[in-house]
Amino acid sequence: MKGICDKCGRSRLLINTRKGMTGKNICIECYRDDPAHHEECKRCHKTRPVAERLPDGKARCASCYNHCRRQHKYEQLGYANCSWCGHYRKVCKPTLNTSMLLCKPCHKKQQGCRKCGQPGLIHARGQCHTCYSCNQRRKNKKADQPAAS
Ligand SMILES: [Zn+2]
Ligand SMILES: [Zn+2]
Ligand SMILES: [Zn+2]
Ligand SMILES: [Zn+2]
Repeated sequence: MKGICDKCGRSRLLINTRKGMTGKNICIECYRDDPAHHEECKRCHKTRPVAERLPDGKARCASCYNHCRRQHKYEQLGYANCSWCGHYRKVCKPTLNTSMLLCKPCHKKQQGCRKCGQPGLIHARGQCHTCYSCNQRRKNKKADQPAAS
């Protein structure tokens, strides 16, 4: 129902008059701005205008509503908190041997050693710590050998 709001005087969509608001025309915006109609947001626990009412009757403020909507959109795009580094990033699909949601850099690290195939953290050059240090030791040995022999 459109009409002139008694509070702001603008022609706006009026909220249905309920008990306790008799005889007053009030638009949706003024209704929301009125601290008397603010409710505690069930998400951030701040007393704010109600932007959305959840199916269980709980109120959600505008910023939480937007946040949840944005998060939902990101979730559909494959974003989540990485199980390994905890960053909110685009994650790879869980692999067969793990249910962890990993972001790309972490997924790479988790793929396993290029040399021994052992899953785990990659130390350097795609190799686990054991293989990498083993390689380094061999290299050092070679370097130690006298050139003449
Ligand atoms: Zn108004
Ligand atoms: Zn909130
Ligand atoms: Zn990560
Ligand atoms: Zn290895």
